[in-house]
Amino acid sequence: SKAKLFDEKTDVKTSFKDVAGLEGAKEEVQEIVDFLKNPEKYTNLGGKIPKGALLVGPPGTGKTLLAKAVAGEAKVPFFSLSGSDFVEMFVGVGASRVRDLFKQAKEKSPAIIFIDEIDAIGRARGKANFSGSNDERENTLNQLLTEMDGFGTNTNVIVIAATNRADVLDTALMRAGRFDRQIYVDLPDVRERKEIFEVHLRPLKKVAEELDTEFMAKQTPGFSGADIANVCNEAALIAARQGKSAVGRQDFLDAVDRIVGGLEKKNKIIT
Ligand code: ATP
Repeated sequence: SKAKLFDEKTDVKTSFKDVAGLEGAKEEVQEIVDFLKNPEKYTNLGGKIPKGALLVGPPGTGKTLLAKAVAGEAKVPFFSLSGSDFVEMFVGVGASRVRDLFKQAKEKSPAIIFIDEIDAIGRARGKANFSGSNDERENTLNQLLTEMDGFGTNTNVIVIAATNRADVLDTALMRAGRFDRQIYVDLPDVRERKEIFEVHLRPLKKVAEELDTEFMAKQTPGFSGADIANVCNEAALIAARQGKSAVGRQDFLDAVDRIVGGLEKKNKIIT
């Protein structure tokens, strides 16, 4: 049986409203939305539509979310895969799987292909890594480059990739006509954390007193968007466990403590 190679979503509901903060990055990807919606506007003047953009930033900062929002805003299908799954699951067939993916995306174009953890595939060639054989990974990377180089001016498939290790990437990926746009997605500052709290409070049914999101933002320095999403969810679970009928400020603070504990543990294992 064939393991699932990639995920395809056709009716993406994610929009820029779901992405808090990241103003600069949103502005840059807005252009991709426009390319997908009105390619003629650009090609009529002889311009070449970019083929790829690389989102660079720490884990949990909203790179996947942002890529999905591009598909949602442009109303195009979203093909996604993770580089690490790819290298682990498809030993021996990586290149042909890449070919399949691009073939399907082209058939459904305009479309977005999203490759998370591209560093697993796109590490500088000739440098060994721990997962899979190096030849296998190189074949997969070469196929990816071949596919992107083969895009005609009217292919209208844009590849968005994400990494938190831009430093290890093969420079061939960044060459003109490939991932020549790099967009930085940083950890949120205090103002952005407040906005992220506001986004993630929306699905919570009952928040007891009006939660002071500015206060919460100040309690969470160094938190990523994913950490904040976790806090909101954890707060709801803590409140429910205690049989409360609404989520209160103390539940959020307890959730922050719990997440901080988890982060500390994680850091201990890494270092
Ligand atoms: P990774 O590098 O670990 O794949 P990522 O940068 O792709 O992480 P996402 O998967 O997009 O991060 O973020 C995980 C979740 O965290 C999102 O689904 C969302 O719930 C929340 N989140 C992250 N950043 C934001 C943000 N800027 N606004 C709102 N929610 C966010």
